[in-house]
Amino acid sequence: MSESAGVTVFRNCDWLVAWDDAAKSHVYLRGADFAFSGHDIVHVGKGYDGPVAQEVNASDLMIIPGFVNVHSHPGHEPGWKGMLEELGSPKLGQSSLYEFMPVFRVGTEYTRPCLRVAVSELLKSGVTTICDLGRPRDTWADEYAETGIRAVLWGMFRSGPWKTTNGHSVEYDLDFAAGDKALKEAVAIADKASLHPSGRITGFFGPAQIDTCSEGQIRDALAAARERNQPIQIHAAQSIVEFQEIVRRYGATPVEWLDRIGALGPDTIIGHCIFLNDHPWLHWPQGNDFERLVRSGAQVAHCPVVFARRGIALNTLARYVDAGVPVGIGTDSFPHNMLDELRMACYAGRIVAGSFTAAPTSYAFSAATNVGADIIRRPDLGRLAIGCKADFSIVDMTNPYMQPDYDPIRSIVYSANDRAIRDVYVDGRQVVANGQVLHFDIGNDIEMLRQGQRDVIKTASERDWAGREIEELTPRVYKIKHPDRTDG
Ligand SMILES: [Zn+2]
Repeated sequence: MSESAGVTVFRNCDWLVAWDDAAKSHVYLRGADFAFSGHDIVHVGKGYDGPVAQEVNASDLMIIPGFVNVHSHPGHEPGWKGMLEELGSPKLGQSSLYEFMPVFRVGTEYTRPCLRVAVSELLKSGVTTICDLGRPRDTWADEYAETGIRAVLWGMFRSGPWKTTNGHSVEYDLDFAAGDKALKEAVAIADKASLHPSGRITGFFGPAQIDTCSEGQIRDALAAARERNQPIQIHAAQSIVEFQEIVRRYGATPVEWLDRIGALGPDTIIGHCIFLNDHPWLHWPQGNDFERLVRSGAQVAHCPVVFARRGIALNTLARYVDAGVPVGIGTDSFPHNMLDELRMACYAGRIVAGSFTAAPTSYAFSAATNVGADIIRRPDLGRLAIGCKADFSIVDMTNPYMQPDYDPIRSIVYSANDRAIRDVYVDGRQVVANGQVLHFDIGNDIEMLRQGQRDVIKTASERDWAGREIEELTPRVYKIKHPDRTDG
């Protein structure tokens, strides 16, 4: 939809999830009209009577704001499908970060196919803005622009990787001079990305992980981000191993140490922020991480699905939100499906607290829309209001999974999932129609992705500390049995 195409109006929407600015909340409207022109929303409410170029009868549709995915790694995560869902290190706090992710990661030649497959899935689940915490590269902005999604390219830098050579301790190969250089490159690529002619790309940067960057690097990144009025994002409090490593290095918990070095505040988004000293897994009563977090104004990127796979959960979504911590939602890993994350955010929060009040649906929906938008400093996203960007999804209310429809957000979060998302618009341009992505084809990308995983399978034992073959590293759900044999 170009500027010259004029106003598109959706008439008489069955349901419309509109933004009530006075209440600072989404509200349901029934029988309202929704109109946009060019990139922007021009009408939300009863009886639009301005000029119309295109008119849609929306009496069996719900229009919802596009989701803002605040934390993801689409350049490699799709390659792990089938391998990492139920794998962790028993001697490394159940995490898969240290022993398995470095072994199973597909090569950088598969970055673009991985990204396109992930973005295709995200768009179909109603994501209109993605934050990609990835490897800075010159082709990055173009890779996103061609998909039609809105993207924050969050260039990650670090001084080196981690490794384990025994399955029970983690070592770091850190080269701080290389990390300083990587920070400069990340900043340069971010600045250039923000100038992309599509107008849908923003470049940010950040220290990849609290345990792979120096104090100076975290401070330098934060200072450079502040000069640009941008936030940094950093993985912290994401594993037991990392919690203990930061205590070992600095005599402080991850949140306490970030506070001590001046990096805990409104310009910092913490990826995960699960292992506060009072998390039930830690038994670490001498600390006040939660109070520090609340006081600081720092924000949290919450990715419930990937942690739930290993029995880990935030303690709890409602506790953080009620105390005033801005919490956004990200997919982090596969599946690239925001509605899965919303549902898991609600269930996991309630299980951890043993209470049905510990993660209300409205907290998860707001986290995935207006709060996520605020976290990336885009108050014109994540809400349907006049003047905001025309980033929205159309839900088919005739889909049986959406009915009965006493509360359609509950219907889509708990029952219908992405099956009911029919069309998606980004910046006033349709990017998904009838559940199909419009502007790119992933047929060839899927084939590349399969090849990437085959490469990993062939060479996994070379990277594993114990030289294990793939079936030993990650046994399939059932063994493959040769069809001619009955003796196994
Ligand atoms: Zn992450």
